[in-house]
Amino acid sequence: MLTIDGASGEGGGQILRTSLALSLHTGEPFRAVRIRAGRKKPGLLRQHLACVEAAAAISGARVEGARLGSLELGFHPGRVRAGEYAFSVGHGAGSTTLILQSVLSALALAEGPSRLTLEGGTHNPFAPPFDFLARTFLPLLARLGPRVEVSLERPGFYPAGGGRLRVAIEPAKQLAPLELVAERGALRRRQARALSARLPERELARLAERLGLKASELVAQELDPRAGPGNALCLELESEALCEVLCAFGERGKPAEAVADEVAAAALRYLASGAPVGECLCDQLLLPLALAGRGALRTLAPSSHTRTNLEVIARFLPLRVREQALGADDVLLELERC
Ligand code: AMP
Repeated sequence: MLTIDGASGEGGGQILRTSLALSLHTGEPFRAVRIRAGRKKPGLLRQHLACVEAAAAISGARVEGARLGSLELGFHPGRVRAGEYAFSVGHGAGSTTLILQSVLSALALAEGPSRLTLEGGTHNPFAPPFDFLARTFLPLLARLGPRVEVSLERPGFYPAGGGRLRVAIEPAKQLAPLELVAERGALRRRQARALSARLPERELARLAERLGLKASELVAQELDPRAGPGNALCLELESEALCEVLCAFGERGKPAEAVADEVAAAALRYLASGAPVGECLCDQLLLPLALAGRGALRTLAPSSHTRTNLEVIARFLPLRVREQALGADDVLLELERC
């Protein structure tokens, strides 16, 4: 049985989610220790418990230590079963997309199609927002084989939650390798979308000024104020290689201009590099690439999420990783199963 140190490297929830995903895939049980031990609220939060429960539900796993605040977890998976599932983070805005991160690769390689209903947050800080999932990640996963459709029935923001996603998964027998090694190429389309219960225009105006966006590239989407406060600003940058979505989130006391500046800074960094794969996309593509057996990404300089995820993946699936700097913030990452 593998022991996974939940406080190593990045030390966040991704260590647990990648372990769950690979345990489901390989059938290898694991024991996670020191889960998020260095975080302000250490151990399993509601959001992480929802990931464990989802992984257990699709595989009939035996689980030890799945309690709020627990620093240790034992996970013994059974056989993955495709089907209809509903998972909720319960009270609050734990991320639905992170629940999906835990079970998607197993269901995308399962024996039949699956349908999921996920309730909680859909636009959370520190998690893939719905727009990134729908426009960046899933279209790339489709190039590896599985077809996954996702629809946003209701957005959910921190702290109230209450969002709902529906996911339809058409699995593939195996994953094809993916190579994203060419330069990003010319931009074909830019669109900034501000979701807010009030005045998304200030965010859009600031972002337009910082990035030289035209009025036709701005979309203000007013949310129903009865659903509580919530604000996300997402910039889609569609190039020849792929569509990247860069998002930032509003919160109480944070000026609209600061939200726009966060997106602008991420966009300027991305555009200054020739690499097509942004920082968050890189750490999320590693798992499907490793499951495919090989793959290569041209990416911005690898983040600590990327490095930690590579270490966790290598515990379950021995990997050879080659890294070659092509420019200041432009790196070729090649993965191969040994
Ligand atoms: P962790 O911090 O360990 O819980 O992992 C967070 C996960 O969310 C990582 O896979 C990040 O790449 C992903 N993530 C965080 N923020 C964003 C964002 N703005 N867009 C896309 N993915 C994100």
